[in-house]
This record gives sequence, structure tokens and C-alpha cells, in this order.
Amino acid sequence: MPSVSSSIHSALRGVAPLVQWAGVRHSRELTAHRVVRNGLPQTNASALDEGAMCEVLVDGHFGHAATADLSASGLQRAFERAVATTQATSARGAYRFEARHRPAAQGSFRSARVRDLDATGLAEITDCLVAATAAMQLSDLLVTRVAHAMLVQTQIDCYATNGMQTQQNFDLVSLQLAATAAQGSESQTRTWSRTGQFGGEVFAREEVVAQAARVAHDALDLLQAPNCPSGAMDLVLMPDQMMLQIHESIGHPLELDRILGDERNYAGWSFVKPEDFGHLRYGSHLMNVCFDPTREHQFASYAFDDGGHAARKEMLIEDGLLLRGLGSIESQERSGLPGVANFRSASWNRAPIDRMANINLVPGSSTLEELVGQVEYGILMASNRSWSIDDYRNKFQFGCEHGQLIEDGRLGAVVRNPNYRGVTVDFWSRLAGVGRDDEAHGTPYCGKGEPSQVIRVGHASPPCLFRGIDVFGGQA
Ligand SMILES: [Zn+2]
Repeated sequence: MPSVSSSIHSALRGVAPLVQWAGVRHSRELTAHRVVRNGLPQTNASALDEGAMCEVLVDGHFGHAATADLSASGLQRAFERAVATTQATSARGAYRFEARHRPAAQGSFRSARVRDLDATGLAEITDCLVAATAAMQLSDLLVTRVAHAMLVQTQIDCYATNGMQTQQNFDLVSLQLAATAAQGSESQTRTWSRTGQFGGEVFAREEVVAQAARVAHDALDLLQAPNCPSGAMDLVLMPDQMMLQIHESIGHPLELDRILGDERNYAGWSFVKPEDFGHLRYGSHLMNVCFDPTREHQFASYAFDDGGHAARKEMLIEDGLLLRGLGSIESQERSGLPGVANFRSASWNRAPIDRMANINLVPGSSTLEELVGQVEYGILMASNRSWSIDDYRNKFQFGCEHGQLIEDGRLGAVVRNPNYRGVTVDFWSRLAGVGRDDEAHGTPYCGKGEPSQVIRVGHASPPCLFRGIDVFGGQA
């Protein structure tokens, strides 16, 4: 059997005379889910997904065809389909592209990790998850105790007729703990998660068990706590809620394909207009936001995007001023705006589009105590529970798992069902304090595109203080 790479090279040689440029993205992904509920192993499932996307540039138009048949003849047939459909549709292209819009990237990437996932046994992981749900068993009121580990090993190799050749290997872990306490008609859930590029070191039993006991304790506290008060007040958001705030009100509105209107039928448009770059005051002068796929251990770290663009850290917002959008080389050409290396696909059978990767809020200089110390009357909220934001990514309403009142610069009583709402630019203009210690979070579930693509993103942020925010209690 010839190797996949020799089949790819043979198919590329065959299609080269027919196209301006051709490339193959070969992806192989092994995903495992391990779930323990109330002390009992519930799921041990693994799935392998492998295939190739054949991409061509014909008459100034990029086109695609995917195949799970990785033989030279299978790839050749996919290329024939890609060339035929691209010839048929190129007259209606949004823009005339050239071969230079696919850089001839060369290099490799491997996730930073201490211990390979391959070297971490099922028994070790299951024991850690069982110990976590046991540590959550503080009371009979804790009716559901879940520990869920998702382990992903992905290899993405790209080859093209211009000599592009990249190999990227990712080790991804998402470990989630959830404790639900219930009494009568009231129930409260508290969670903890660690999501990023790691190896087996995530399953350090002592730390996981300590976090499990803490979330169970918090869930019991919330069950007895009064409802969150309503009114305008100062708000301190912890990193695990800042993640969602950044994702929805900075990440999505800055995607250039949304701004160009590509996503209007599905994910939506953006309140940001092309003329806003370089001019719009997105937030207070304390607001600094970067695109950074080069930071180790975040969930969407990589060296090259799927178009062969080398990843670099870039400032999107500096001292509150909007500078740069989240757009690939294609979107940059179409819009004339500055962008980043974020052309990414969710699978071998999807074409890349503009995605977020790691979008991080740059730390400031305050400790958490100093942020809280600046608040006369307000609330500290942690861990996202619910979210709602309009198609333009402008008006939003977010709920958190845990609230704690702040009075005269001190943390006080715990309150349940805390929520807040705002309008994006007004909200960020109320940013009055930025913590010095950031924390990275991530999610495997950012959805976008037609056909749908669910992709991994990472967001690091310190705790932040916002002044005069509309806060309210209840199940939002
Ligand atoms: Zn998203």
C-alpha cells in the first residue's frame, strides 16, 4: 500500500496542468469521551475521523471537493470534481484570486504538553473522574455529580503544488466537572473546567478532587442563597465569564466574513462596519485585545492556518481603539482591511472560513482584591450559565452560575441566579479595572458557517471591573 503522502503527491502532479494552484489538507482525528456520573462510569467512546480536502484555483476562483478515499485514484476523482464545479461556478466568484493568496508555507507544529495522551491509560483517567464525583458527594442534596473528559488527538498535514508542506499535531483535553444541588423546586449547578492543549498531566488527581469538592460546596451554598438583586451597579467578572463576554461581543463582531455579509443568512452580521477599523473607540483606554494562536496550551494554538498563512500574534484593539479584524488572506483581499491567520475548517470535509482561534484580553496591573476594593456597591460574577446576543452582536444578556455581593470594597453574601445586560461598545467603555493575573479557558463548540462548522476557540482574560452595569436576578 502506498503511503497517504505519496498518494497525495501523485494526485497533485496529475491535477497541476489543469489549475493555477492545487492543495490537499489531510486530517486524521481521534476523539474519546470518558464520562462518570454519580460514581459510575457511563460513557467510554472513541471515534476516528479521517479524510482529505482537495482544493483548486481555476479561473481565479477557489473550489473544493472532499473524500475519505485516500488512495491516489480516490484523490484524483476528488480533484476532477473540484475542477469541474469550480469551472462551472467561477463566473460568479466574489473576487478573482491568484496563486499568491495561498502562501507556500513549510514547517511543523506540536501541542505543548508534559505527557502524551497516548501514554495516559483509560484506568488512570476513569479513576480520576470517579474520585472527582466521590469528592462532590458532600450531601444528599447533591443529586447529580458529573465528570466528563474529552480527549482529542488531531493531525493536519497540508501539501500544495507551490511546495507548501506543513504538519501540525494537536493534543486537546477538555475536562468538565458539574455538581447540581436540588431541594423542592429549586436547583443550582456549579461547574469547573480545564480546556486547552495538554496531555495526561490534566488528570492530576489531587487538583481535580479539590476543584470537585469546591464546586459541590458552591452548589449547596447557592441553593440556600437569596436571589441576585436588580439595579445598576459595578460588576466584577471572573475569567470564566470574561471568556464568553470576549467571545460574543469582540470575537464574533470582528470576523471579517461576517462584516462582508457572508454569514448573514446563518450566524448573522455585525454592528462593526469596514470604516470603523482605525477609528472606532470600542471600549475604555484600558481595553487591549489580541489574536494569539502562538500562546502555548490554549485551545486554538497553531503555527499555520488552513490557507498556509503563518500564525502571528496581532493586536485587534489597543487602548480601546479598534485596529484589526479577524479575517483570512481572502477576506483581507476582499475588504481591503488588516486581518490575521485565522482561515480554519472544522473537519476534512469543510472549506476554511474566518474563525476566532485564541482571542485574549491583555492583563493590567490590579490584583483581584484591588478591583473589589474599588467597588462601593456591586457584584462579582463567575462562570457562564446562559447567553443571548443579537445578530449584530450588539445587545446582549448573560447569566452566571455564581454571584457574590460587594459592599464598601469587600466581598459579602453569595447570591443565586445573577445576570447582566448591555450594549457592546457602551459596555466596554465602562471597563474601569483590569486584573493582572489571567486564566485561559476554551470551548470546543463555537458554531458558524453553512454547512455548519463547530470549532475550538480559546480565550484568556484576567478578572475585570465594569462600572454601572444593569444587573438583575432570576432564571434568564
Ligand atoms: Zn462562537
